[in-house]
Amino acid sequence: MGPDGTDGGVLRPPEGVAPSTVVVGVIGFPVAHSLSPLLHNTAFGQLGIDWASFAFPVRPGDAVSALNDARALGIRGLSVTMPLKEDVAGAVARLTAAAERLGAVNCVAAEHDGWLGDNTDGAGLVAALARGGRFAPDGRRCLVVGAGGAARAVVAALADAGAAEVVVVNRTPERALVAATLAGPVGRVGSAGDAPAMDLVVNATPAGMGGVTGGPDGWPVDPALLGPAQVVVDLVYHPLRTPWLAAAAGRGASTMNGLGMLVHQAALQIERWTGLEAPVDAMWTAVAARLDA
Ligand code: NAP
Repeated sequence: MGPDGTDGGVLRPPEGVAPSTVVVGVIGFPVAHSLSPLLHNTAFGQLGIDWASFAFPVRPGDAVSALNDARALGIRGLSVTMPLKEDVAGAVARLTAAAERLGAVNCVAAEHDGWLGDNTDGAGLVAALARGGRFAPDGRRCLVVGAGGAARAVVAALADAGAAEVVVVNRTPERALVAATLAGPVGRVGSAGDAPAMDLVVNATPAGMGGVTGGPDGWPVDPALLGPAQVVVDLVYHPLRTPWLAAAAGRGASTMNGLGMLVHQAALQIERWTGLEAPVDAMWTAVAARLDA
């Protein structure tokens, strides 16, 4: 085979991929470091199905043509990451209720009449919280720090899961109001001072990632406001244990890093595409090993 991957003009598939292999992938920009292909391919291997996932770099502005091309090529599903989530929401044939409410799509599935756009981010966090019976939002008071794409998905999903209250804290108050509105009557804008009364506290800002600090005191919420009766979640997964999460654990809180949401949002995508139950444990182990390396 030549260095261009061809042999006498015949394009050879990579090892383990046959002409009959069902192809899915992830689109975004940049996308080279996405963990989605690892999560997807681990699941396909465990399920014993001939599917394969690839990362496709798609620049801002190219989302519509990428979706059209992917459909023509018979690609069965795509994860969608930054900065394409809103553009894709405007380009699909149909949206699930979650994606419509958020105006953002994190995966598309090929259906007979076009792409179905879904958003599994918030449901992914709720599923991760449910793992091992750790936390069910029903009737509980929740605080979310941040008002970006991840925060909005989490706010909506916590409200859908029956939270009694969803308080949004964000450095830009106008964006906090937009996010809180997604929780309907149980949503409101608050401050870090609300934290001691909350059952669940979620950091949905990049504070803690690569030296980014957040909040007036450098924390998403001052750890002194957190305690043993609470579940504290940091959506950041690089590093797996942020200084804030470590400080919350030091205060006696039950803590969870961003890996749970990452794995479960991907698991829900696998289930939508294949109709099979995703092997969450194997996906978790594979991605934790990659992040630990
Ligand atoms: P985004 O849309 O850019 O929103 C970022 C939010 O964080 C905004 O509300 C922003 O406030 C706030 N923020 C940014 N820097 C801040 C700082 N230094 N101090 C205080 N607030 C700050 O980002 P996103 O997509 O929502 O992602 C947010 C975080 O969640 C990232 O760390 C991302 O890696 C993580 N995430 C994890 C998962 C997972 O599966 N675990 C999934 C998605 C995202 P303003 O509104 O004032 O700008």
